[in-house]
Amino acid sequence: DRCRSICGEDSNFIAKASRIHYYPLAVKRAKGSVVEDADGNEYIDFLSSAAALNTGHAHENVVNAMKKQLDDFIHYTTAYMYNVPQVELARRLVQITPGDFEKRVLLGLTGSDANDGAIKLARAYTGRRKMVSFIKAYHGSTFGSLSLSAISLNMRRKIGPGLGDVHHIPYPDCYRCPLGHKKDECSMECIKQLEDAFENFLPAEDVAGVVMEPIAGDAGIIVPPVQYVRRLHELCKENGILFISEEVQQGFGRSGRWFGIEHFGVEPDIIVMGKAIASGMPISALVARKEIMDSLDAPAHLFTMNGNPVCCSAAIATIDTISGEGLVERSRLLGEYMMEKLNEMKEKYEIIGDVRGLGLSIGVELVTDSSGERNREAATKISYRCWEKGLILTFFAGNVLRVQPPLVIEKDEIDRGLAIMEEAIQEYVR
Ligand code: PMP
Repeated sequence: DRCRSICGEDSNFIAKASRIHYYPLAVKRAKGSVVEDADGNEYIDFLSSAAALNTGHAHENVVNAMKKQLDDFIHYTTAYMYNVPQVELARRLVQITPGDFEKRVLLGLTGSDANDGAIKLARAYTGRRKMVSFIKAYHGSTFGSLSLSAISLNMRRKIGPGLGDVHHIPYPDCYRCPLGHKKDECSMECIKQLEDAFENFLPAEDVAGVVMEPIAGDAGIIVPPVQYVRRLHELCKENGILFISEEVQQGFGRSGRWFGIEHFGVEPDIIVMGKAIASGMPISALVARKEIMDSLDAPAHLFTMNGNPVCCSAAIATIDTISGEGLVERSRLLGEYMMEKLNEMKEKYEIIGDVRGLGLSIGVELVTDSSGERNREAATKISYRCWEKGLILTFFAGNVLRVQPPLVIEKDEIDRGLAIMEEAIQEYVR
């Protein structure tokens, strides 16, 4: 079978450093919420290419916009001149992002480089060096973004020191409270970790920015308490620190709002975006207050390929499709539907410890039993079995099933996917 031969460890030339494969799957084509492999097998997609395909695979609006742009021209570096889609995209990004103030847009290529840009901007604007981010966060693979991350030793070992001056604090995780509190008795003690740091060893006046995902993605889809995010935002304001909302995974309707931070009613100083912005084309963006953007001059953050017009056209078509097809609202409603079904499963199977999320960004935490111990074996086996049965499902943090289908997914596709998940769970517990 072609898939297995393509995916064989010794039969291809793909480096290990860039793949986390859960099963041998080589994609041949994909449309909507369905992926076909090299052998012609079909899968329902609950992963959306790692939350990069909110409009689904090969949405015709996106494909047509790109084809049209390809016929006009492929690229001319925006370092030396503008192109029309680049300017048009920037206008749209300013419109759809929260914050009633003057903004500017900086385009990049991936979520990783956008995070590097956010660090540069925070440092330049504040004249300070230190950054705060969260334990278990994934922000990318470039040196700046890997320094913000704290999720895998493979990102650090043998690579040498990252950027200095990054202080990591625990993410407010109500299921696995770092302070051992129960879900319904949150005392907001964890914000004190930062307040204590500010009082004892991390001078707030040295901190340039705090980088926070409004829902922690790779850490296992963790939704923070609203009051935590508000207090953190307040602390930033009180101390002249920039609040940076890292929306690479949660942006563009994924959480049932255009941007995840909108669930918390605070206006970030910088928004970092990538992944779903252009339905699979490599482009990222930073949107920030004008005065923050004005703190850097070229060539502080430019790439020969940024603002690529084919990618920008894909992004414009993506944004227009999300608006035109009501995909933000659809994400919210389908998310509620999936949460309800998954919570029904939770009642039936002890190995489901927690079901959580917002919109179509959902985590299903697998545990060994009522002790709540992480059940890594179950996650590995269940996701593999799902693949065998025709569902693309992976997991985060070793034991949290990752449920992030395209926002265009049909209800019957959701039902089929959930049925496969349940069968795989049943077989595992049997
Ligand atoms: N930030 C977050 C929250 C992410 O989930 C990711 C990708 N998993 C990144 C940044 C990095 O983005 P990219 O892989 O496009 O560089």
